[in-house]
Amino acid sequence: MDRGTGMSTNAELFERAKRAIPGGVNSPVRAFGSVGGTPRFLVAAKGPHVTDAEGRELVDLVASWGPAILGHAHPEVVQAVQDAAAHGLSFGASTPAEALLAEEVEARVGPVERLRLVSTGTEATMTAIRLARGATGRDLLVKFDGHYHGHSDGLLVAAGSGLATLAMPGSAGIPEAVAGTTLVVPYNDRAAIEAVFAEHGDRIAAVIVEAAAANMGVVLPDGDFNAFLARTAHAHGALLISDEVLTGFRVSRAGMWGLEGWTGDDAPDLLTFGKVIGGGMPLAALGGRRELMELLAPLGPVYQAGTLSGNPVAVAAGLTTLRLATPGVYDRMEHAADVIEGALTEALAAEGVAHAISRVGSLFSVAFREEAPRSFEEAKAQDAFRYPPFFHAMLDAGVSLPPSVFEAWFVTAAHDEAALGRIVDALPRAARAAAAA
Ligand code: PMP
Repeated sequence: MDRGTGMSTNAELFERAKRAIPGGVNSPVRAFGSVGGTPRFLVAAKGPHVTDAEGRELVDLVASWGPAILGHAHPEVVQAVQDAAAHGLSFGASTPAEALLAEEVEARVGPVERLRLVSTGTEATMTAIRLARGATGRDLLVKFDGHYHGHSDGLLVAAGSGLATLAMPGSAGIPEAVAGTTLVVPYNDRAAIEAVFAEHGDRIAAVIVEAAAANMGVVLPDGDFNAFLARTAHAHGALLISDEVLTGFRVSRAGMWGLEGWTGDDAPDLLTFGKVIGGGMPLAALGGRRELMELLAPLGPVYQAGTLSGNPVAVAAGLTTLRLATPGVYDRMEHAADVIEGALTEALAAEGVAHAISRVGSLFSVAFREEAPRSFEEAKAQDAFRYPPFFHAMLDAGVSLPPSVFEAWFVTAAHDEAALGRIVDALPRAARAAAAA
């Protein structure tokens, strides 16, 4: 299939892209760095499938890294986007649907009384941190080893996602003074949190945590770890930022909050959203208690702005996606995850490959180790070398997995029995490839 490049194979497209774009990609994990081989250039996506430039249809378990809960290009979402686009792509002024989207989120997620729309998850967490610093008058931020919150300076310290994939401890180009305001502690380590607060408690503005870690593979919070963080932060006059960019509206209709239901002192002060909230368009948000959120300009002293914030086409995609995300959608995603989890365990066990699947709602990943990891240290201590041959065997069989063992697998409600059947059929060979690695 030729989309005007004059070329057709993935390899030719990658060569051309590398001459024009650093590494040939606009986001590092897409380069297949850790699994090797040629990345697929996609030209279309529909339901549970993506189609590459060579016209090959693959069952997709990336789902645009999360947004596509309804499946790709859901007809009603596409229609809403077309309708919005026909009325204008961007105005730089308020539009009626922005408040509807905010109301939709506020109706679902208890701790969110006000919502501010931005364009990326990076902006959402960056703004939440500025707001926490503005509200507390303090500088320090606590984050967890292996958690990823986007690519703003202070958050690229010991982060997951592409940094975990590339085994990078952080990024060049971040001033020491900025990195020095981020304190990194091991995930699920209550004693380490207590120690960091004992030492720096009066200087800590906020703790930021992925509501369930999913950028070092999925690593679940132990017991009431999220509520423990809220209580500990509050006892020291600090705030908790729960990053639901990835879990929000995916692990349940109300994200991780919908599963854990934190209230009062156990609740985070600020929550960040991305991915599903934009239905596949660039849109993200931060929300929280009214008095905190009203510290944002124009009401308060904490500045944040965006030329394309609340973009009408993106809001149309997000609002339509959330409205269509009924309980039945979550039931279908859970079913898809059940089927894949069962077949994955069976295939790997049959080959004697040590593995552990970590899962919350329909969000899961596999680690090549006996026990499910509880921290980044443990997530790294696995037979990661088994993933590239496993990944390529699945790709050869027509299944597109995330190109890193440190990323979650994403199902959609459009993964029907035919799509699931292709995944189940592909797994035994992939398990053999993993065993032979
Ligand atoms: N927070 C989390 C938990 C994420 O998973 C991501 C992206 N994967 C981000 C923040 C950053 O979002 P974006 O890529 O839209 O900037």
